[in-house]
Order: sequence, then structure tokens, then C-alpha cells
Amino acid sequence: MGHTDVVPVNEAGWDHDPFGAEIIDGEVWGRGAIDMLNLTSSMAVAFKNLATTGYKPKGDLIYFAVADEEAGGHWGAEWMLENEHDAVMADYVLTEMGGFGFSHDNGRSVLINVAEKGAGGVRLTVRGTPGHGSMPLSADNALLKAAEVLRRLGGHRPTPQLDDL
Ligand SMILES: [Zn+2]
Repeated sequence: MGHTDVVPVNEAGWDHDPFGAEIIDGEVWGRGAIDMLNLTSSMAVAFKNLATTGYKPKGDLIYFAVADEEAGGHWGAEWMLENEHDAVMADYVLTEMGGFGFSHDNGRSVLINVAEKGAGGVRLTVRGTPGHGSMPLSADNALLKAAEVLRRLGGHRPTPQLDDL
């Protein structure tokens, strides 16, 4: 699964022509060269190669590319899941956030990302008892309780959960 859309170009922020697709020091420079037309097009080439050389996967292998990632995916991946669920549902998905190559002392590696973080909205209700301003220390101030909750959340450092992946 890849997306085919890219962010708008602000040419002032580019060192090279964003539409030039120039190869400079072994890297393609251009709009979409990363995030993620490099991956989407590589997936298309690999998929075509598998499809034309007789590869038989154990299950279905789906090539899926849609626009709209930069706008939240509502009219691309989300629409497909809601309207063409069987066509795109899979046990595993290869998509972006892997594929970034980096160099290190032992050579060059490509990252594999096995999950994606997300946002989770939480509504927190903190109750207290209002008190008179002349006796602030005897009041059960909800704002001070909320501040303590935020302080603890800000200081929390969860332990990484590592598994076989
Ligand atoms: Zn992307």
C-alpha cells in the first residue's frame, strides 16, 4: 500500500528543481522522491515482476495505491476500507515509514517499521469543591488536581514493549 499524492511545492525551500528528478550523488531529487513515490513506484515494479514471473503467493497479494494521504486518507484508504473492504483487507500491510536507508559503521541498512503510532483522544474530568477566596487552603481545588495529573503525565516514561517483530 502506497500513497500517490505529495505535499505542495514551495520552490524557495528546495536546493534543486522539485520537478527536475535530478540524480545528485546517487539520490533522486524531486517532489515525491521520498514520501512516498519512491516506495509506491518500487512496489509497483516489484509487484509487476512477481505477477509476470509466475510467483504464486500463499494468499492474496494486493498492490494498493491511492491519493489523499496528505489530507488524512479519508477519500483514499479509508474510503476503500469502507466501500471495497474485501478488495483491500489484508493480514499484513507493507507501507511507508520503512524504506529509509541510512548509513552506519557496518554499512547501509533499510528500516522496517512494524507498527504506526496514532493519536488517542482522552476526556479527563477532575472534580473538586469550590471554596471561598478567603480560605483557599481549605478548598478542594479541581484545577490543582488537574495540574497534578498533567505533571504526572508529562513525567511518565513508559517502558518499551519489545516483542519478536
Ligand atoms: Zn506519506
